[in-house]
Amino acid sequence: MTPEAEQLLLDGLDAFGLQPDPTAVQRFRHLLTLLQDGNALVNLTALKSEHDIVLKHFVDSASCLLGGHLAGDQQVIDIGTGAGFPSLPLAILNPALRMTPLDSIRKKIDFVRATAEALEMNHVHPLVGRAETLGQTPEHRGRYDRVVIRAVAALPVVMELSLPLLRPGGLLVAQKGAIGAEEMAAGERAAAELGGQVASVEAFELPVLHDRRSLVIVEKTRPTPARYPRREGVPAQQPLFWKAK
Ligand code: SAH
Repeated sequence: MTPEAEQLLLDGLDAFGLQPDPTAVQRFRHLLTLLQDGNALVNLTALKSEHDIVLKHFVDSASCLLGGHLAGDQQVIDIGTGAGFPSLPLAILNPALRMTPLDSIRKKIDFVRATAEALEMNHVHPLVGRAETLGQTPEHRGRYDRVVIRAVAALPVVMELSLPLLRPGGLLVAQKGAIGAEEMAAGERAAAELGGQVASVEAFELPVLHDRRSLVIVEKTRPTPARYPRREGVPAQQPLFWKAK
């Protein structure tokens, strides 16, 4: 990592009130190298500069910590983690979290697993699978303290993939761009249908780039009805209360 990129990382995290310790900084450096080396494999860093990776992936992922909803040794699942976002930065910044990065694509999870091992993060347990399947599996349904999700789907879909996995009292932390009124309304109705309630929507800007972001916090208030999540693919094909795109 160039000194400029490292300064950008430190300044970006500082804007969120985060000061990484030396181990965390070393892990971010190592992660950047592994992403650059694994580029062809995970198709994430194509045509992206260090500057972009640091801001759009590392700092952006860290924004899930705004508001202090992820802390202690919570059991956290990251649905649709791709190359490990936001879970790897979150696990670097908060090594007490017990983190399960989930993706349906095996080669992505192979990369995340190899990366977690290289960074010596035993608290990260990557998993290949679909959220719909896990949501109907007793070992996973209703078992998580937190769900994090970034750049996977529209809010109503996010709700159906996430809420079944949470224990009552657990929280969904969904990182989104700017959210339109219609998507928000459909998301709120879907949450209610699935046993959740939108607790807050925190709007903020990504440091330096000033991209608009929202952190949607949803509380699981009661058990999800047994018919949800519907079978694989249906939540995205027929989103609750929302026109499919
Ligand atoms: N969260 C990452 C990747 C976003 S791309 C980031 O912010 O960079 C969306 C990812 O979600 C893809 O890797 C896709 O394979 C995965 N995905 C989509 N629907 C899924 C589902 N129902 N269950 C598990 N993974 C899913």
